[in-house]
Amino acid sequence: MKDHVEEIKHKLSVVDVVGGYVKLERAGKNMRARCPFHNEKTPSFYVSPERGSFVCFGCGAKGDMFTFVERIEGVDFFGALKTLAERAGVELTPTRGDKDKNERSREFEILEDATIFFENELKKNELAQAYVASRGIAPSTVQIMRMGYAPAEWRSLRTYLKARGWSDGEMEKTGLIKRTDKQTSDPFYDVFRDRVVFPIADASGRVVAFSGRIVVDDPKAPKYLNSPETDLYRKSRILYGLDKAKQRIREMDYAILVEGQMDLVMSHQAGLRNTVASSGTALSDEEIRDGEYTGLGLITRLTKNIIIAFDSDAAGTKAALRAAKIAMSLGMDVKVAFARGGKDPAEIIQTEPKAWAQILKEAQPVVEFATERLLEKKLAHKDLHRGIRDEVLPLVATNESALDRSRMLNVVSTMTGVKVSDLEQDIMNITEDRGHVTPSNRIIGMPVENMSREERLERMLFGILYGQNKLNMNGENDIQEVLGAGRLLHYNSLPDIDKSMLATHVETLYGEDGPQLKDKIDMVLNLTLERTKRKRDEIGREMRTAIGSPRGDALLKEFESLSKEMSDITNKLSSRQ
Ligand SMILES: [Zn+2]
Repeated sequence: MKDHVEEIKHKLSVVDVVGGYVKLERAGKNMRARCPFHNEKTPSFYVSPERGSFVCFGCGAKGDMFTFVERIEGVDFFGALKTLAERAGVELTPTRGDKDKNERSREFEILEDATIFFENELKKNELAQAYVASRGIAPSTVQIMRMGYAPAEWRSLRTYLKARGWSDGEMEKTGLIKRTDKQTSDPFYDVFRDRVVFPIADASGRVVAFSGRIVVDDPKAPKYLNSPETDLYRKSRILYGLDKAKQRIREMDYAILVEGQMDLVMSHQAGLRNTVASSGTALSDEEIRDGEYTGLGLITRLTKNIIIAFDSDAAGTKAALRAAKIAMSLGMDVKVAFARGGKDPAEIIQTEPKAWAQILKEAQPVVEFATERLLEKKLAHKDLHRGIRDEVLPLVATNESALDRSRMLNVVSTMTGVKVSDLEQDIMNITEDRGHVTPSNRIIGMPVENMSREERLERMLFGILYGQNKLNMNGENDIQEVLGAGRLLHYNSLPDIDKSMLATHVETLYGEDGPQLKDKIDMVLNLTLERTKRKRDEIGREMRTAIGSPRGDALLKEFESLSKEMSDITNKLSSRQ
């Protein structure tokens, strides 16, 4: 594993990897961009080719190319390894049959085996093929989406996997088979039976679950059946189709969110490959709290713009507004596309692919959409106002920017005739009730504000040493001396990425050659001043309890001498201006 990592790092540069996702510009010996991990207007995201690292001074994101891919693709370390190994042309040693193969990669393997089984079964079953064709799905789409069929038998998948050496325990753990409570000689049976099967992959394209659509509608069976939640399949963290859509979402700078598997497949077939599907995941309030770790959170790493296109019935509208609220709380710009006539996107695309593009083009900002749906109900003024308060204003309230909020309130007021001042009062109650959920609440920033000036100076000076590889060299004696052996050791024992971050910070402030000698001397003097001041303040506090005693006199003497030192340094500093 370690060898693979080193080999990949040797073959790829961090600039190429990061540059594949965000637009980098040169800034001295570093590259700079607007951070893909938080919302910002001025770039504070830096990549250091020399140290192979990235750091954001806005939100504190930092790491190497593996960390970067993990975060931006929403995958774990193995997912990032797979992506980068492919890019670097490094072959990861195949591990089948390997005793110490880790459990997780075995789980991916069994799911891959199941996918192949379903794919082959679809090729054999004419009835299932006829169903797929009747929904307007082209054979090439079947192949791209890796659609399959689960035979109408109780144990066909299990028998197949058993023959390939998988155990019941492994099949059960990955949600492929279930155990019946009944007393029987063979308690296990396939989860998916007589269904067209859509494999659900994580962001890096590994199958983690399945969704099965019933072939012949049966009022006693659910239309769609999804895999149970497993270690690999956390419903709120997966968006169906993201692995195939992510590249296009980044290029187009917007994503289309549909509800069902069919909608997604058809939207891709119609050429809108930036489409993902919520696929029946409960977009719940918990998602708002889990924020960036949810499926929608993954999209925010690719774009801030989303069009929600759900079914145009009452349930679809409700679900769309729920999804919109979550997306807005993640700082996204949300529009809603609305197909009149109660059809779902898959049906529209099947009959009239061009109409679909038009519907998306006419997508409305979510607040307008919600207000218009209310106006359609032709409510009395009082009920309309209540409707706005309950359904529209909570959406407005999730918006982080006060300016945007006020702009939205104006739109709502113009559309409905409710006074802006009334709306403002209502929204204040909402934000007070719930606490404001904004993206910035969630981001773990570097607590620079909480840092003492002494520590900030130390960090800066250490960054200078580290950035210029002067740690073990002469020539920066003043800095090393003033930091002191203890503090040097402390900073030196930080993880490399933290050291690199400090060095990058210096470079962003002073350019690639670092600060000039004069600035460095100033920093050294300032650090000495801060330390002297801290020592003097400590003595000052101690003196208060020791006044009048011999110890108090000694402390006073020391206090005065430290004060003198401080004024000497201050004089030195001001004479140098
Ligand atoms: Zn950031």
